[in-house]
Amino acid sequence: MHKFLPIAYFQNQFLPFDDAKISIATHALHYGTGAFGGLRGIPDPQNPEQILLFRLDRHCKRLSDSAKYLHYDLPADKIKTIIVEFVKKNQVKTSFYIRPFIYTSDLGIAPRLHKIEKDFFVYGLELGDYLSPEGVSCRISSWYRQADHSLPLRGKISGAYITSSLAKTEAVESGFDEALLMNAQGKICEASGMNIFMVRNGQLITPGYDQDILEGITRDSILTLAKDLGIPTIERPVDKSELFIADEAFLSGTAAKITPIKRIENYELSKTRPITEKLRDKITAITENRDPNYQDWVYVVPLG
Ligand code: PMP
Repeated sequence: MHKFLPIAYFQNQFLPFDDAKISIATHALHYGTGAFGGLRGIPDPQNPEQILLFRLDRHCKRLSDSAKYLHYDLPADKIKTIIVEFVKKNQVKTSFYIRPFIYTSDLGIAPRLHKIEKDFFVYGLELGDYLSPEGVSCRISSWYRQADHSLPLRGKISGAYITSSLAKTEAVESGFDEALLMNAQGKICEASGMNIFMVRNGQLITPGYDQDILEGITRDSILTLAKDLGIPTIERPVDKSELFIADEAFLSGTAAKITPIKRIENYELSKTRPITEKLRDKITAITENRDPNYQDWVYVVPLG
């Protein structure tokens, strides 16, 4: 069981997490008509009286965009104000994860997005490593990622996560740590809740936005950093056959950070991962606000 932060935001107010309850008839519970975000907060290693939020604006914008698919007008600025207030009210002194969520809160039945009540809540939980930082084994899932023509994959739509759940359970129950999903074209697109990168011949390669991926914020950050570090980078479709023989491969996500891939199916990858480690060191320094060149990616919330 997770350790939840004491205060949540729910139905336009801050209240104890335990008092934020919804009905079993809630529309979104039945139809997957929700959208969420996920961001980490960490105590500033240089000053424990402040919390650091990585790329807060970008997270708020993605959630505001996801809300548009649900026919809900929720400006990014409003999300930002509530998240900052949420962090101040909770006064956490450990690493945590913030889960903002938009959903159809109506108690009526029938799938739809028009003329239906919606709500926005935020809660948090303490979170250390989501996947082992030492690396993970991956199975290529028999479940394919949905296509953008049937679901708006640019948003973090809750209903979409049935596929991630099927894939993750299939992988874990067959002895792997994580699942890699292909898209309808049979190209590798991402993991159950992370984007994927591989390195071949010194080049960093990741599937592009046309490959049915989530527009991951860690992914976007890594691409920027790689360019700044002079690592040749390309966004293009990825075949499973090249992943099996990649020099390095890793997963990226807010929860997973940068997690190396040790093995894909029955193919072992090298334990020497210079580019993965270089990017991991860089992003860790940035999230901890130790890199003066990327301070605009870090939002500082004073707790006092
Ligand atoms: N893909 C999926 C399906 C995800 O759920 C996530 C986690 N949000 C990611 C990729 C990584 O995105 P981000 O780096 O923004 O956390």
